[in-house]
Amino acid sequence: MNLKKEIEGIFKGEIFDDAKTLHIYENDASLFEVTPEIVVYPKDVEDIKSIVSFVSENKENNPKLSVTARAAGTGMSGGSLNESIILDVTKHINHIGDVEEKSITVEPGAYYRDFEIKTLKSNLLMPSYPASKDLCAIGGIVSNNSSGEKTLNYGCTRKYVQKLKVVLSDGNEYEFGPLNKTELDEKMAQQDFEGEIYKNIFNLINNNSELIKNAKPKVSKNSTGYAIWEVWDGETFDLSNLIVGSQGTLGIVTKATFRLIQPKKHSTLLVLFLKDFNHLSEIVNKVLKHKPESFESYDDHTFSLAIRFFPDMVKSLKMGIISLGFRLIPEFFMILTGGLPKLVLLAEFTGNSEEEIKKMATNTQKDLEEFNIKSRITSSPADAKKYWTIRRESFSLLRNHIKKGRTAPFIDDTIVSPEKLPEFLPRLTKIMEEYDITYTIAGHIGSGNFHIIPIMDFTKPESKKIVEELTEKVFSLVFELGGSMSAEHNDGIIRTPYLKKMYGEKVYNVFKDIKNIFDAKNIFNPGKKIGDTWDYTMKHIDTD
Ligand SMILES: Cc1cc2nc3c(=O)[nH]c(=O)nc-3n(C[C@H](O)[C@H](O)[C@H](O)COP(=O)(O)OP(=O)(O)OC[C@H]3O[C@@H](n4cnc5c(N)ncnc54)[C@H](O)[C@@H]3O)c2cc1C
Repeated sequence: MNLKKEIEGIFKGEIFDDAKTLHIYENDASLFEVTPEIVVYPKDVEDIKSIVSFVSENKENNPKLSVTARAAGTGMSGGSLNESIILDVTKHINHIGDVEEKSITVEPGAYYRDFEIKTLKSNLLMPSYPASKDLCAIGGIVSNNSSGEKTLNYGCTRKYVQKLKVVLSDGNEYEFGPLNKTELDEKMAQQDFEGEIYKNIFNLINNNSELIKNAKPKVSKNSTGYAIWEVWDGETFDLSNLIVGSQGTLGIVTKATFRLIQPKKHSTLLVLFLKDFNHLSEIVNKVLKHKPESFESYDDHTFSLAIRFFPDMVKSLKMGIISLGFRLIPEFFMILTGGLPKLVLLAEFTGNSEEEIKKMATNTQKDLEEFNIKSRITSSPADAKKYWTIRRESFSLLRNHIKKGRTAPFIDDTIVSPEKLPEFLPRLTKIMEEYDITYTIAGHIGSGNFHIIPIMDFTKPESKKIVEELTEKVFSLVFELGGSMSAEHNDGIIRTPYLKKMYGEKVYNVFKDIKNIFDAKNIFNPGKKIGDTWDYTMKHIDTD
């Protein structure tokens, strides 16, 4: 059938099936390439409902038909890539409402950068924003359960979602948010699709409560699988918690209402330069006791890249080359006298007065004296900015500069609890050193979440084999230490085949039941969370 022609009759927005458009939508920021059949820009929620109903009605005759939502396409797991209909919400479904009593309702296609301008006007913030906050959109933030530098103190996106509107597989739009037991009972009594969903999910979670409890990774944030731990706490039942982080596999998000926080007025950085991983866990735990708002890190490879691509750093910092050169003198001097630090740690202290934050940073510095590590407290926001830029721009620096090969995110988001770091980091380094590849490690040390990004040349036949071997070795190490293979970036094409290994067959079957309750025909983003194989993953690595 000619998909474009069939959809034209039921759809107000734009529809594309030309090679140029399809080429744009075959990639995101992941390792993968998947060519869709068609790309649509819905004009409004009615258009989304029409597409979903169309796919649902025609799925039996055309099993390959599906619909995958896409926001800004900056995901690093391949979550928005698929073979049938790609539904881009950024073109028209992007309204940002007004701030009302520390809360705001926004459509999924709104870019976070525009959303933040609006919240900051009211001196409010949605603090789980990712490092890609200038590039990504709300639909992706919600559907990946994104998090970032402030998550240590404030938590992930799920914590800020008050309610969601979602188009489900029957083609209707529903609202999900917290319900008490009486409200839940009323929903479960409904003789319709919504009632069936509430009843079946409630029974599934109740009947498997021990299994679910024991399967929870021992980490502070996790974006893998379905968030079965967050739905029912015995008092409140909230299906929006399940939809957050589900990568568009349960329905299409059409509106999100977020709770906002008031950011602190002042901040400063305590910068720690570590020669080795000795005492890392004690250092991390000591710093955490002083309650930094964020606690980030980058490794020697990231540091040397920042120095190698110095002119681009200057551009990102929006400061003159001489001024930046001047600001980096202490680091250059340190490298000349003592070599590159193995790890740089950035502990950010925030408060409502200069005195308060200085005291916090100085007390922490004093508390670390026994470890004899080089450290400094930044003197101004401009001074702090250079460290933040290296940390935030590390992935972009790599992505934009490497001529031979490219960034290969596949072990890009592991998390283990901070006490496990002294075991995790040396074992990780040993695994990485078995291969002749350049890589950087940057991340959220305060939570034990690291972004390990190798540079690889996929025109070389051995590269795919390295992806395969490294994934197996690194994920096995993470699982052994009770961690998760993704804290923020979610499962997508890269991690879906590992969900069974991470959680075991029984928990995976609970995930399968969840998918089946919401989307029995498998119309939404097939192959993510449930289904696809490592073979599919390997076949779709972009080798250009
Ligand atoms: C330089 C760089 C830095 C990054 N840093 C971080 C970081 O610090 N933390 C982090 O979490 N991520 C990070 N990422 C990954 C990514 O940017 C984020 O996860 C982001 O939130 C994805 O948003 P997006 O709009 O690009 O989503 P997309 O890539 O378009 O989509 C992501 C997923 O959401 C689904 N989706 C999108 N819209 C909807 C909708 N309306 N309904 C249902 N499902 C939908 C898609 O199907 C897909 O599965 C980074 C990426 C880059 C390139």
